[in-house]
Amino acid sequence: MQSIEPLVFWRDTEQGKRGLACHVEFCQTADCTCQEAHVQAFEVDEQFAGLVLRGQTLAVQYRGTEKPPERGQTDAMIDLETGRVNPVESTPPSETDEALLAWLREACDETTLNELRRRWSVFKDERKKEEEAFARKTWKDQDWTVWDGEERVGWFERRSNCRWGRDVRALGTSSGRREAREAEAKGRRT
Ligand SMILES: [Zn+2]
Repeated sequence: MQSIEPLVFWRDTEQGKRGLACHVEFCQTADCTCQEAHVQAFEVDEQFAGLVLRGQTLAVQYRGTEKPPERGQTDAMIDLETGRVNPVESTPPSETDEALLAWLREACDETTLNELRRRWSVFKDERKKEEEAFARKTWKDQDWTVWDGEERVGWFERRSNCRWGRDVRALGTSSGRREAREAEAKGRRT
């Protein structure tokens, strides 16, 4: 469960202790060597209890409060080789984005980068094992009863994505591969 466990960077501010809770994801292609981490960063306080997937969006969970305070949030790409932190959106970053990106840049020291690199290789190893397991299966081994013919995620993939706590963005990156599998599966069924 490496990828759903957020990295949290704490610091003291005039308003008290603040954290930047980062949900980290990597490209799903098993043998792709692009060394990048996609980060969804949420500003949190000491009541922070974790990040949860609500439907298709990540939400911040707080202890003892139903409605979390409105705080900044931004997306970033981190180059694991150089440690460079870049905004994801093509639109110019807002003041909040800039502040959170600066925070993230400060947090991306060698220790953080090494932790991200470690997560990256654990994730890629898992993905390779999944790919190998998938390659060993024939279409008959798969449970097609849960596939309604329109759902664009195959059973094996869906199960593995759940386990990894993937969100829609991550699913989107593997759509090409998934479509290829579905086309292949469909071809064999008819
Ligand atoms: Zn890649």
